[in-house]
Amino acid sequence: MAKIIDGKLVSTEERKKIACEVDKLKKDGYTPGLAVIIVGEDPASKVYVRNKSKACDEVGMYSEVYALPENTTEDELLDLVHRLNTDDKINGILVQLPLPKHLSDEKIIAEISPEKDVDAFHTINVGKIMLGDYDFLPCTPAGVMVLLEHYGINVSGKECVVVGRSNIVGKPQAMLLLHANGTVTVCHSRTKDLAEVTRRADILVVAIGKADFITGDMVKEGAVVIDVGMNRREDGKLTGDVDFETVEPKASYITPVPGGVGPMTITMLMKNTLTAAKRAKNKQC
Ligand code: NDP
Repeated sequence: MAKIIDGKLVSTEERKKIACEVDKLKKDGYTPGLAVIIVGEDPASKVYVRNKSKACDEVGMYSEVYALPENTTEDELLDLVHRLNTDDKINGILVQLPLPKHLSDEKIIAEISPEKDVDAFHTINVGKIMLGDYDFLPCTPAGVMVLLEHYGINVSGKECVVVGRSNIVGKPQAMLLLHANGTVTVCHSRTKDLAEVTRRADILVVAIGKADFITGDMVKEGAVVIDVGMNRREDGKLTGDVDFETVEPKASYITPVPGGVGPMTITMLMKNTLTAAKRAKNKQC
C-alpha cells in the first residue's frame, strides 16, 4: 500500500513559513502585494482567482483583483499591465490564463515586467529556469519538488518520467527533475508505447488532463507517482490523470486528487511574490 503524499499538510506548513517572512517584512514597513487579473466569466478561472486572493490573506499579503469584462480589448489589458508594472504596492502580477480567444496569452505575458512575473511564464524567467539559475519558481513543478523533498524522496540518479510537455507543467517539471540530477524522459501524445516508458519510472509525474488515464499496469512496483491532473467528472467531482484505485496498490508514494499537488501551486505563487517583494525592498535601500 502506498504512502499518501499530503499536499494540504505540506502546503499549510510552507504557508506558515511564508507568513512568518511576510510578517518580518511588514515589521520593516514593507507589505508584499499581488495583483491578479481575470478577463471574462470562466467559472474555473474565477475559483482559482478567489483561491489566490484567499491565500494572500492567509499569509498576510496585500492583494488586488481586477475582474475585467469578456470584451476587454488588448490595449485596455496592456494599459493595466503597464500601470501595475510601475505600481510600488504591487510586487507580483498574475494574469489568469487562458485569456478569451481575442487576446493573446503570449503577447500579454511578454509585457509583464520579468521582475513581477510571479507565474514565471515570461521568456526571461523561462530561460533562467532552463539554465537552473532562477528566482521565480515554476509554481506547479516547484510544488512537486517540495512534496518530494518533504517526504525524503531523493531524485538524484532516479529514472524520472514526465507525461505531458506543456510549457506550464511538463517542460519545467522535466527541467527541475534534471537540475535535481534525475535521468529524465518526457512523454507526450506522440510517444510510442507509453506504458513501456512509464513502467521504467522510479518517479512518475503525470500532467496530461485526461481523467484516470494512467492505470496500474503502466506503473512499476514501488514507483513514486505524482498526479498533477485536475479533471472534472460528470458528477462534478475532481479527479486526476492517474487511476488511483489500480495504481495506489503498486506505488510506494502517491499524491491524491484533490489534496496532492493542487494546494502546492498557489503556495509556490505566494513564495514567488515574497521573493519579488524582498528584491524590491532591497532595491529601495
Ligand atoms: P496541456 O493540455 O497544456 O498539455 C497536456 C500534455 O499532455 C500535452 O503535452 C500532450 O501532448 C500530453 N498528452 C495528452 N494526451 C496524451 C496521451 N494520450 N498520452 C501522452 N501524453 C498526452 O495541459 P497542462 O499541462 O496545462 O495540464 C495538464 C493537467 O494538469 C490538466 O489536468 C490540468 O488541469 C492540470 N494542472 C494542474 C495544476 C495544479 O495546480 N495541480 C496546474 C496546472 C495544470 P502533446 O504535447 O503531444 O499534445
